[in-house]
Amino acid sequence: MTPISRDAISRRMFLAGAAAVAVTACSDDSTPSAPTTSTNAAPTKPSSTTASTTTTSATTLPSIELAADPFTLGVASGDPDTDSVVLWTRLAPLPLEGGGMPADDVPVLWEASATDDFASIAASGQEVAKADSGHSVHAFAELPQGTWFYRFRVGQYTSPTGITRVAPTDATEVRFAAASCQHYEAGYYAAHRDLAEHAPDFTLWLGDYIYEDAGTVGGDPAARIHLDAEPTTLEQYRNRYARYKTDANLQAAHASCPWFVIWDDHEVENNYAGLLPQEPDDLSEFEARRFAAYTAWWEHQPVRLPPPAAAGEEYRIYRDATWGELLTLVLLDGRQYRSDQACGDAVLDLEPACAEAADPSRTMLGDAQEQWLVDTLTDSSAQWNVIGNQVVMANATLNGAVLNYDQWDGYPVARERLLASLDTAGIQNLIVVTGDIHLAAVAHLRTDDAAVGVEFVTTSISSGANLDPQLTDLLKSFPDLVDAELAHRGYTLHTVTPDLWTAEYRVVTDVASLDSEVTTYSTYVVESGSNTVAPAP
Ligand code: FE
Ligand code: CA
Repeated sequence: MTPISRDAISRRMFLAGAAAVAVTACSDDSTPSAPTTSTNAAPTKPSSTTASTTTTSATTLPSIELAADPFTLGVASGDPDTDSVVLWTRLAPLPLEGGGMPADDVPVLWEASATDDFASIAASGQEVAKADSGHSVHAFAELPQGTWFYRFRVGQYTSPTGITRVAPTDATEVRFAAASCQHYEAGYYAAHRDLAEHAPDFTLWLGDYIYEDAGTVGGDPAARIHLDAEPTTLEQYRNRYARYKTDANLQAAHASCPWFVIWDDHEVENNYAGLLPQEPDDLSEFEARRFAAYTAWWEHQPVRLPPPAAAGEEYRIYRDATWGELLTLVLLDGRQYRSDQACGDAVLDLEPACAEAADPSRTMLGDAQEQWLVDTLTDSSAQWNVIGNQVVMANATLNGAVLNYDQWDGYPVARERLLASLDTAGIQNLIVVTGDIHLAAVAHLRTDDAAVGVEFVTTSISSGANLDPQLTDLLKSFPDLVDAELAHRGYTLHTVTPDLWTAEYRVVTDVASLDSEVTTYSTYVVESGSNTVAPAP
């Protein structure tokens, strides 16, 4: 890349930005509108949307001249409902150095079209990329149901084109990808390339989008390195997101379909719980650090959410969505409200669980979210009830030993209460989709006396195995685990019809190779009404 001085960009953008604000003021007189999801109480940001007017005339462009392409982080879309979808980009001509934008807010144009040549614009609008928000853009595009091409324009630059969807009211089949855990240093994103090639209806991202580790310069045979220190400030988290988002295969996966995004721990710090950091010594700084991390997460994800308000305050990201009458999708937050991990966060401890783990006051979701989850699924009329969940929910204990206190195994009373509540409420066709643990698994979910659902654990996009693959047969011998695959990275493709759920486990042959082939390890099915998972015939 040709080096471009920050000052040069700053000066030119400042002059152009002032002109553009004037253009915006007189060229856009549409009524701001803010679509909301039916049950998410979170406020939405205003948007200047010009929807449902099919026109071939050129839309007014802000007259900005930029010194470098600001669309280095690609485009994304997410949180579709039946009327609209969130379109995302972030202006960052110098993505790894704070973005390289001036201190001004900059108007950005978005356009949506039924064709990739944008010959006819179905909807367009202007959003302000605010300096305070890292010049990120979250545009709420109101569009008819179906598939749309979209792009952004600023100055002489046009972004890459993305494909998105407005959720259907009726659907007889849906295919979606579930994915998590893309440690940049642990390998390449062949899995994302494969995901994009499969063009699912949407992607469900289950957490660990970034990892907060410092770069391991000179470390082991990592494919590539973070290069910077462990982030704790907003600017540092922005640079970390930018590091990940410059990856072409990740950009392709985002551009291929809308995503529903939730977080796990590494978006802030490994194994944090609420306002408790992993290391007790870091407590005094953690509130500010978490706020910086949450803010950067919002800036970089295509979510239908406002930015977090203030350090130490709740930032609600749990929400729900539908895909016709096929799916009700609830997206959990298993980090912000949980009790601290019990028994000193022990991992692979073969002693019986300590008394603390069985304390009935311990919670994974917090009372409000747990009640919301049960209420949302109770009100659901969809054929399948899907929970997007952070950490393994199925019982994976070994002779009473909790192998990982970060998982639901470390919150056994809360798990039993939740699953029993869903059973009592008569929730049918419950499918829990999980990431976190860097292995593929298929499991039954049971209360003490009933089968209540099936869990599909996706392996990591790139993050390294947490467990030695030699433990595969041991895991497969656990009563509730139907299958486990520990050696490979990948993601899971779910195809859903009213009668049948099909989960195809895609695995990367060699994560250290950008061009690795991606194949199917195995395919599992759940017949409607069965609560039983089995290999595909
Ligand atoms: Fe992970
Ligand atoms: Ca995790």
